[in-house]
Amino acid sequence: MERINIFNYCALAILVIISVIMLLRGMLHNKRNRYFGYVVLLAIISVCFDIVCISMDNMADEFIEARYFFHNGYLVLHNLCVPMYIAYLVEQTDTWHRVKKRPVLVALVTLPYLCVLCCSLINPFNHKLFEIDHELNYVRGSWFFIFYISAAIYWICGFVYLIHFKKLFQRLQFWAMFCMFLAMPVAVAIQMFRPELVIEMFSQALGIIIIMLLIQRPEERRESVTGFGRLNTFEMDMQKAFCNEKPMHVLIIRICNYKSLNDMLGFQDTNDLLKAVSERIEDACGNLLQDIDSYYLQSGRFCLALGPDRLSRSEELANRLLEKLTFPFELRQMEINVVTQICLVCCPEDVSDLQTMLAFGTGMEWEDKSGNTIHRAKDLLQDGNCNMIRDIDLIIERALIKGNLSVYYQPIYSVKEGRFNSAEALLRLNDEEYGEISPNIFIPAAEKNGAIQRIGDFVLNEVFRFIASEEYKALNMEYVEVNLSVVQCMKADLAQEIIELLKKYDISPDQINLEITETATTYSQNIMMDNINALADAGIALSLDDFGTGYSNMQRVASLPLSIVKLDKDFANMSTDSKYEIVLRNMIRMIKDMNLKIVVEGIETAGLAEQFSQLECEYIQGFFYSKPLPKDEFVEFIRKENHQ
Ligand code: C2E
Ligand code: MG
Ligand code: MG
Repeated sequence: MERINIFNYCALAILVIISVIMLLRGMLHNKRNRYFGYVVLLAIISVCFDIVCISMDNMADEFIEARYFFHNGYLVLHNLCVPMYIAYLVEQTDTWHRVKKRPVLVALVTLPYLCVLCCSLINPFNHKLFEIDHELNYVRGSWFFIFYISAAIYWICGFVYLIHFKKLFQRLQFWAMFCMFLAMPVAVAIQMFRPELVIEMFSQALGIIIIMLLIQRPEERRESVTGFGRLNTFEMDMQKAFCNEKPMHVLIIRICNYKSLNDMLGFQDTNDLLKAVSERIEDACGNLLQDIDSYYLQSGRFCLALGPDRLSRSEELANRLLEKLTFPFELRQMEINVVTQICLVCCPEDVSDLQTMLAFGTGMEWEDKSGNTIHRAKDLLQDGNCNMIRDIDLIIERALIKGNLSVYYQPIYSVKEGRFNSAEALLRLNDEEYGEISPNIFIPAAEKNGAIQRIGDFVLNEVFRFIASEEYKALNMEYVEVNLSVVQCMKADLAQEIIELLKKYDISPDQINLEITETATTYSQNIMMDNINALADAGIALSLDDFGTGYSNMQRVASLPLSIVKLDKDFANMSTDSKYEIVLRNMIRMIKDMNLKIVVEGIETAGLAEQFSQLECEYIQGFFYSKPLPKDEFVEFIRKENHQ
């Protein structure tokens, strides 16, 4: 019987093309792709051995040793292919930690392959596996069934594993792996009936193509600027890890001044900076990088996930990262400082569900803004707060239905008038189960789940009703500032709704002032600009809230129809530095030259209040004067303080 090599040549061509594509796409850097690389490499070596074996069929006597060598090699390598798929499967399901917990099972699973290895080692002496007979034909021996039994055992193990972890795969990915496993017995069956058609390696190559097309798509996983995993990759990987109860230490690296940097640098330079930050992060990881999953979660948040073998290194890595990221970045002859905070999340001890992890990764603002610090999730999530973050959607819904929301008012002091002439309306959520919840937590969550529109309506109605009331009128205040979220500003008829509400409560536009944040103004979406312009045209004054620290874009301030700029709390924290005071003085001058009023927020001491009055900030807001107060207490406070 003459065996045909053509299918092997095709398999080799396919596998070589796949390897080249993998190299060009830089797929081998990532550990998840690396196992796929091993599968392809093993298949290439096996098919080469098979090609040589078939080419040497019927060769002369002097090649006998070489023929034994290649046949033996092919059997050993070919039999390793299925265990290698299983390793790939374990990597795909992210279950190595589970496998490692069962050393006896692992030992048992290696037994069949050890048998094959032993048989092939002694085969040149006993010829029980195969032999090259007197007519120079390759003839299978009586032990050859061991080879089939071993392959069958691995095939069953792999198949059971695949079915068991089916839920960890997306539908198409599952079917790709399924096809791979199906291809193997089909090829063996065909070859049984038509032994001259050597198609086993060809069928494997086809299976590998399917996997390559449906599973190994690194571009889909990776974010293009940093090369780290995308947010949805993070979501999928974390979901898998939590399903598998995989112990992990996750480091969330947040650039606190991202918003200001983005404002200052614009799109391209911000991307360059993010690239440079990701390179520093990789540098800090050093040779740990191979075992770490890295992600970029948008808005200046990076994440590193360390698996079970690397848990002990997480603190050391966090310190190294902080150290590396404190050095200024050079960008087009500018020196840029990033203010970094790192949060260490130990899973499953601190966080054991996707929702909370996502809140840490994307939404949650860690209160302390001083930067260059390492937080621990367990400290941030004391006393069951962890469940609170997980349940936040439910809490918001409950608040809207049961009326757990209320509006507080924080008085704003006018230096010139020597009295409190305005106030900021600040929303409070008091949940029956979790108590008082910070707007820094529930507002971003409401923006994500869409509840912000109803929340915004509630705040506007509450504030307008208060402004229309007799007790407010008696206070002789000028206006109340109301925060608007970015998401609210995206609603096409927002301006119209607010104008109608003014009519409904019969209050004039100059009695309110709407605060938009700097982030909101960076979205230059038409709807938002239309809303802002329509509100300004209707005579409603606008404030720019949380005006950034140091890098803010004056051009944008100039381009918006603003009447007030609110200096962020960070200004109050930094004003003690004398150089900084020069920057502050000039910035205040510039804002004033644009005919805008300035409110400084977060003033907690008499000294700071004095300092900012000296700097000619005409409005001061902060705990030094008063915390945000419930409506009745606020009325009482203003009556007393304004001597009415
Ligand atoms: P914001 O608009 O910048 O509000 C000022 C925040 O600073 C308030 O936090 C206030 O309590 C706090 N604050 C005032 N004085 C001081 C001080 O002297 N020291 C310190 N450390 N903090 C001070 P709060 O009430 O927790 O609100 C946080 C953020 O949540 C607000 O920041 C605003 O962005 C958002 N928010 C609050 N209410 C609403 C709302 O009704 N709608 C929307 N869209 N966002 C809201
Ligand atoms: Mg505000
Ligand atoms: Mg503010």
